[in-house]
Amino acid sequence: MTTIIDGKAAAAALRLRVADETAALKQAGITPGLAVVLVGEDPASQVYVRSKARMTVEVGMASFEHKLPVDTSEAELLALVAMLNADDAVDGILVQLPLPAQIDSDKVLRAIDPAKDVDGFHPINVGLVATGSGGIAPCTPYGAMLLIQSVQPRLDGLHAVIVGRSNIVGKPMAQLLLQQNCTVTIAHSRTRDLPDVVRGADIVVAAVGRPEMIRGDWIKPGAIVIDVGINRIATDDGKSRLVGDVAYAEAAAQAEAITPVPGGVGPMTIACLLRNTVEAARQRRA
Ligand code: NDP
Repeated sequence: MTTIIDGKAAAAALRLRVADETAALKQAGITPGLAVVLVGEDPASQVYVRSKARMTVEVGMASFEHKLPVDTSEAELLALVAMLNADDAVDGILVQLPLPAQIDSDKVLRAIDPAKDVDGFHPINVGLVATGSGGIAPCTPYGAMLLIQSVQPRLDGLHAVIVGRSNIVGKPMAQLLLQQNCTVTIAHSRTRDLPDVVRGADIVVAAVGRPEMIRGDWIKPGAIVIDVGINRIATDDGKSRLVGDVAYAEAAAQAEAITPVPGGVGPMTIACLLRNTVEAARQRRA
């Protein structure tokens, strides 16, 4: 029987835990606060920012939203980041990506105080996570890791294959799996014989951005399959639906456990953002 990993339920449970931790901090006079900065009016980003703000309030934290016009200059955004860095009520700062072309995203992300970098993208946090010295891990791979451990708490010696090497998913995912003593392979667009590489995996993490690329016959029987991909595809009736990077039905027939899309890794991302924020508040203020 294949276990369908329920990311929605896991995210709800994590948010409850964050709400408890927030309540405990509030008793000590500390209200954790998350500032979300949105530049421009990208519709998908607006949806993300709205859900982040709603869930921040639901767990009892303070939410600070900063919506800036699309023609905001880099200097103006950097000035806002400096103000948020200096504001003691702000424990986490998230600058929603992508930013408009006139702004250098790397420069902005590097300007965020690493102690408030709840997205975990600052090179200091990347380095701390890579050296196993603490730091704040990026939300999506952290959430994926919690889902893997919900079905397999001990990962020692397992072979994990991550398909995708982005800075926000693939690379930090590799670090987190390595910390849990997995043998880690990172595959990417230049990898040779990808199906064979994936066939060797006890854990497959797909973070490619290509609809249903990973087929069922690439999956070793009994593997854990974590699908990070979110792809919108057109359907025959002229509508659209979301699919992952894994051909779900085929892979589910082989896997011991698999995340669906939607309802798998996706919901964990915001829950982990809230978890990173409460943790940042505790580290900085408690
Ligand atoms: P990127 O586009 O930054 O990276 C994609 C990676 O896939 C690259 O490393 C690329 O290799 C690799 N790749 C592309 N084509 C192939 C191929 N044919 N064979 C093997 N590898 C390939 O994407 P992200 O990491 O940002 O996102 C990946 C997916 O995860 C997307 O669907 C995205 O929507 C989703 N996502 C979901 C999140 C969530 O659940 N909340 C959050 C973030 C992302 P190369 O480096 O060689 O180009």
